[in-house]
Amino acid sequence: RDFEPSGIQDTNIHVVVRCRGRNEREINENSAVVVSTEGANGVDLSMGPNALSNKTYHFDKVFSPAADQSTLYEDVVTPILNEMLSGYNCTIFAYGQTGTGKTYTMSGDMTDTLGILSENAGIIPRVLYSLFQKLEEKESTVKCSFIELYNEELRDLLSLDDKSNLKIYDNESKRGHNNSTLVQGMEEHFIHSATAGIKLLRGGSYKRQVAATKCNDLSSRSHTIFTITTSVKRTTESGEEYISSGKLNLVDLAGSENIQRSGADNKRAAEAGLINKSLLTLGRVINALVDKSSHIPYRESKLTRLLQDSLGGQTKTCIIANISPARNNLEETISTLDYAFRAK
Ligand code: ADP
Ligand code: MG
Repeated sequence: RDFEPSGIQDTNIHVVVRCRGRNEREINENSAVVVSTEGANGVDLSMGPNALSNKTYHFDKVFSPAADQSTLYEDVVTPILNEMLSGYNCTIFAYGQTGTGKTYTMSGDMTDTLGILSENAGIIPRVLYSLFQKLEEKESTVKCSFIELYNEELRDLLSLDDKSNLKIYDNESKRGHNNSTLVQGMEEHFIHSATAGIKLLRGGSYKRQVAATKCNDLSSRSHTIFTITTSVKRTTESGEEYISSGKLNLVDLAGSENIQRSGADNKRAAEAGLINKSLLTLGRVINALVDKSSHIPYRESKLTRLLQDSLGGQTKTCIIANISPARNNLEETISTLDYAFRAK
């Protein structure tokens, strides 16, 4: 395929919302359902005593609590996987307050029994399965990496020894893509089956879980990035062979709570470690891409540096904003929908 000359920003960012059902705690606390996701792409919030105080947001697609893992996969992920296989760098983010279903959406149930996934399997296991199905009989390679970013420090979830605080280097590209970065010593595992990929996902998730029990805000304040890179041999109509390489980043973001503070205050709070610098910068990068701004602040956080070659330019991005339906969480839900809406 042809690459656009560098500098042309073809924003290709989709934003969808997924609302889970009320959890046991919300039901026990009698926290009313204030989110309605009846329409195909609208979210209605009941903010007060009558319909006049309702607020409606529109997104590319909205998933109600009734939408299961396979529906979300078919609607959101299948098209992106096809883009990746035709050579695009793509990213799917799970965004939202802690407890709204980011990890359920991204990983979900990771059991893999003789090649059969659970109906609660999330995006990553499903991607691995459809990827190997689609690549059957094609000459191709697939590799995975899995890293965690906590307090602007990178840790390799696939390495056996505890490699942490890995450095990021620039990898200058001469071909009109966005520049990419390299992570010092990051492991990339070639895999030959979906099962092998799911094993890596499970191992890395377990490693994260163990660390999270020692450090109680790690699981809500860290980001994980599971990256799949494919190279597929293809043939042009005139019979020439070429390799098409694509990349898919599957990102389970830190909890978005506390990010709603605005402006300079926000920046100072981030520097003091009160809010997540990478999450804040991601929002600014996406806004800059949507506004077609001439300066995209990729360099201001580790997350956006890591994803630099997969955000903006000739890439595809999808943000899945996860929300709770309950009144108790309304303030965070509004903040999530505002963040997500600005990315449109
Ligand atoms: P987060 O990663 O955003 O903190 P989790 O993915 O851990 O949230 O979800 C919190 C709990 O809610 C988990 O027990 C998860 O299984 C459950 N859950 C979240 N979303 C859904 C959903 N759409 N359907 C069923 N259970 C869900
Ligand atoms: Mg989680």
